[in-house]
Parts: sequence; structure tokens; C-alpha cells
Amino acid sequence: MRLSLIQRALVGGLILATSGHTLGDDNLQRARELANTYLLVDTHIDVPYRLHDHWEDVTQATEKGEFDYPRAVAGGLNVPFMSIYTPPSAELDGSAYNLANNLIDQVEAIVARAPDKFGIAATPADAQQLVADGRIAMALGMENGAPIAGDLNKLRHFRDRGVSYITLAHGLSNHISDSSYDDVRFWNGLSPFGAQLVQAMNRLGVMVDISHLSDAAAAEAIALSTVPVIASHSSMRKFTPDFERNLDDKLTKALAKRDGVVLINFGSSFITQDANRYFKTYGEAADAYAERYGLAEHAPEMAAFEADYRAKQAFPFATVSDVADHIDHVVKIAGIDHVGIGSDYDGVGDSLPVGLKDVSTYPNLIAELLARRYSEADIEKLLGGNLMRVWKAVVAGVERA
Ligand SMILES: [Zn+2]
Repeated sequence: MRLSLIQRALVGGLILATSGHTLGDDNLQRARELANTYLLVDTHIDVPYRLHDHWEDVTQATEKGEFDYPRAVAGGLNVPFMSIYTPPSAELDGSAYNLANNLIDQVEAIVARAPDKFGIAATPADAQQLVADGRIAMALGMENGAPIAGDLNKLRHFRDRGVSYITLAHGLSNHISDSSYDDVRFWNGLSPFGAQLVQAMNRLGVMVDISHLSDAAAAEAIALSTVPVIASHSSMRKFTPDFERNLDDKLTKALAKRDGVVLINFGSSFITQDANRYFKTYGEAADAYAERYGLAEHAPEMAAFEADYRAKQAFPFATVSDVADHIDHVVKIAGIDHVGIGSDYDGVGDSLPVGLKDVSTYPNLIAELLARRYSEADIEKLLGGNLMRVWKAVVAGVERA
């Protein structure tokens, strides 16, 4: 239905007069309906590592964290990719393979505890079947290729366990690829093994994820892959100019040209320059403090330091509108077929935007997009259609082989 501005005002006024609603409430109501109607995929949620540190039963409402079953249902979430994350230190001390297997066990334990609520989706067809059955389809994405440990047999092992994408590196350059966060660039892109790995992932139907990579490595992976690639949890560098962790326009366009998709990270430091600067300044202060007192990254003293720092300087949280600006930008430079959601829930600490604090809040973003005149068809693509198209294409390559 198309209404003139005056008609809209009248309809809005009428609803306001009869039920106390505003047009904004109407958008939110419609957004909730759309979240329940269309497949909602989020390609990056750090539940396994969260539980590794602080166990809770996410099949029930939990006190902490940003994901649990009731909140996922409330938000309309259907296919969360559980992050099988290993820190860079796990490559250095050789524990990455072991840790990744333990984290996959963790996801299997969630599903075993509540098989009526969850299932594991190793393929897009699995995901669709589970959702049709009324369950949440947990897919697996490996963050950091360290567990592959230079051995293509391990790629097959993790594929057989259900891993559907691999983020080639994390915060430090590794044996596969250079990292955007690392000053040390071993390879000036991908390593020779990294190039082999991309080709093997194409053959086995595992999506290549360029989030966290250096620009040179991301460009190389996009060019080398014979099927579309993803950026599972990256935002747009246009809004955070010196932050290589976000994709610049050139990479976004290159990814889109090969029919890939960028899944927008919600963390405020990925979204606004203010929050990004805050994180950088805080990080430097925290590093100095840790060094002065010989404290480890996760020491309780560091939590106290952070609380104190934040009490003195309020953190500039981003807004739902700021996140929608990133989506608008991808649409503008690459098209609606190349954007989706990779929130990084349970992975970015207390830095989530106002209005997007956990998996129950996706409808707030949908309402903002409705207010910006996104069509229902556009919203369907963005919520999950685009990612499913890429995932199917990557798996179809295997069936052809
Ligand atoms: Zn990450």
C-alpha cells in the first residue's frame, strides 16, 4: 500500500487516537511479524567461548550473555552461527585443534540437552528442515583457521563435524593469512598454505570468511575462491576510516562482484568513529596498566580497571540508526543482495548499540529499515536470503565435484 505523507499522517493520527499507538509502534509490530515470517540468520554469535569461560544453560533463560533460547525466539532468530573461536595464542602453543573440538562438543551438548529446541545444521538443507520443524538451527563457523594446523585432513575432519565457514585468521597473522589487527605481515596476503586451503575449502563446500584479514589477504581470498565468499562479522570502513578490520568500499565491491555477502557487526566500535576511538584509547591505557602490574588479559584486576575507566569516561554507544547507516552504505555501493547480519553477540563485551543489546532485539533494526522504506523483499534478503544463497552456492560446488 502506498500512502501520501498526508494520508500517512492521518492514518497515524487515527491509530494514535484510537489505540494510543504511533507510527513507530506500527513499524515495530510489523518488524516483529517479518522477523517471525522470514528466515533470520546471524553469522556470528560467540556462545561456545562464552560458555567455555562462564557456563550457563542457554536452553533456558540466562542471567548473563546475549543469547539464550527464549530471547532467540523473541527476536525471531532461526539460524545462529555458533562461533568456534580459538585465540591466536592457541596457534602458538599448539592447543587450537583440541580447543576447537571441545567447543564443537559444547554446541552438541546444548542440542542434546534440548533436542526439541535446537539442532545442528551442517548444510543449508539441514537448516531449512530444522526451521520447518520449529527448531533453531545452530550452524558452526570456525573463527581463526589455527585448528587446521597446516593439515588439509583436519579441514575434512571439521567439515565432517559440521563446520560451514572458516575465518582464515583472527587477531594475529597466522600460518594461513595476515591479520588486520597485526602489525606483523608474514605473507603480504595469504600464505602458500592459505591459498591451498581456500581451494580445498571450495572443493569441500566450506565457506571462506574474510573477516579479520588484512586488505591484501581479503583481496587474494576473494580473487582465488571459485565460489562466493563472506565477511561473517565486519562493518563498513567508511564510518571508521583507519580501522582495517572493517571492509573498505573496494573490497566490498569486489566481494559483491563475486556474489558474496558482508554480514554487519553490531559492536559500537565497528559502527561509529567515536566508539572506535574510545576502544583504541582504552586499549592503550589497559595495555599499559596490565604491563605495569604484570596482569593477564582476563585477570579480575583488569575488569576493575575497565569499570573504573568507564565510570570516568562514558562509553559512546552506537544506535540502531547508526547500524542501519552501514546497511544503507552496502546497498548503495554494492546492492541489497550483498548484505546481512553478523552481530558478534557474546563476542564484543558491553559495547552493543542502544536498542540492539541481545538476540531479542533484531526487530528494532527491522523497524528502522521499514522507516527507511526498505521493502519486505529487501528485508527478507538481508535477514537471511542472501546468506542462504551463498551457502547453497558453496555447497552446490561440492555436489558438482
Ligand atoms: Zn571476531
